[in-house]
Amino acid sequence: MDMFQLTRARDVQDAVHAGAAARTAQQGADIRFLAGGTTLIDLMKLDVERPVRVIDISRLALDRIEPQDGGGMRIGAMVRNADLANDETVRRDYAVLSQALLAGASAQLRNMATTGGNLLQRTRCVYFRDTAAPCNKRQPGSGCSAIGGYNRNLAILGTSDHCIATNPSDMNVALVALEATVQIQGVQGQRAVPIGEFHTLPGDTPDRETVLQPGDLVTHVTLPPPAPGSRSVYLKLRDRASYEFALASAAVVATVSNGAISHARVALGGVGTRPWRSTEAEAVLLGQTPGEALFRAAADAALRDARPQSQNAFKIELARRCLVHTLKQATQAA
Ligand SMILES: Cc1cc2nc3c(=O)[nH]c(=O)nc-3n(C[C@H](O)[C@H](O)[C@H](O)COP(=O)(O)OP(=O)(O)OC[C@H]3O[C@@H](n4cnc5c(N)ncnc54)[C@H](O)[C@@H]3O)c2cc1C
Ligand code: SF4
Repeated sequence: MDMFQLTRARDVQDAVHAGAAARTAQQGADIRFLAGGTTLIDLMKLDVERPVRVIDISRLALDRIEPQDGGGMRIGAMVRNADLANDETVRRDYAVLSQALLAGASAQLRNMATTGGNLLQRTRCVYFRDTAAPCNKRQPGSGCSAIGGYNRNLAILGTSDHCIATNPSDMNVALVALEATVQIQGVQGQRAVPIGEFHTLPGDTPDRETVLQPGDLVTHVTLPPPAPGSRSVYLKLRDRASYEFALASAAVVATVSNGAISHARVALGGVGTRPWRSTEAEAVLLGQTPGEALFRAAADAALRDARPQSQNAFKIELARRCLVHTLKQATQAA
């Protein structure tokens, strides 16, 4: 690996201006922010990331979880995954987020990993992490080794002929179901991006994963007030019970009033190239009486456009069952 320069940002503006000198904020960025380091340092050791400058943002004053005027919550980008998962208000009002975080990685990793870093963690596709293998995401135009190769754990929704990698984050799936907003400070000022617009589909530019531009620093993630009377649940299915990424997962936020579903937000993990919101499933559920047949119809709608690869057709039924079970839990009486 080339030598790189490590500097510590004194404040947010300092970090943004230092980062703005980068050519890109996507794969191949020559300047990178360092938060908990549990993704970035791994990828630097593998030569997948080769920044010439690393800006340590870990001391920025972005480590607070704060209530917002009018309800809702503001989570600093440097809040550690463990602190967020165990926050009393998050556990009570945004249970799906706490459950998703606790389903991820290990206790040690959650103590290091941050909200901003989790949002931006990279795919676990084995070819992306192997510099000897063609990979359009790592090296545009080189090909996709996973199509026709080892793709058991990869995506069935939102894929393209250029990339079929999943977004591996559990937290992101919960944030989609909660309709979170990503707060960004860039050279042009502040902007707010709904989580559903933050991650991009691979299309023919899989090296581009988010809407971030050089210098853009995620400062916070904000959550709206919890939907009145709602319950929220995260369920993750994987090859072993801990320290493993999702094969399929589901996050559901639902309200049942007068025997009918009056609010439903559905997101899937482990199956999409980005954290996958299913408005199709939500439309099936809204206004209906909760029950097995309805949940099955919602799950069918969510997976209707699934496009499996040579090794991962099993994910279609796995994701359906995962969603049905999560819907049961989210709509049952407390
Ligand atoms: C063995 C292992 C198992 C894991 N298992 C799971 C799992 O089951 N589920 C799961 O969801 N995750 C899992 N993870 C991933 C883990 O959650 C992420 O590595 C972690 O959340 C990344 O956070 P970080 O602060 O360490 O990020 P970093 O490594 O510091 O940063 C990651 C990326 O985000 C950028 N970045 C960080 N903060 C900001 C910011 N504020 N603004 C702009 N850019 C920023 C960095 O430049 C870098 O490109 C696992 C990781 C490992 C190593
Ligand atoms: S699926 Fe994406 S990340 Fe994996 S080899 Fe293909 S292009 Fe690379």
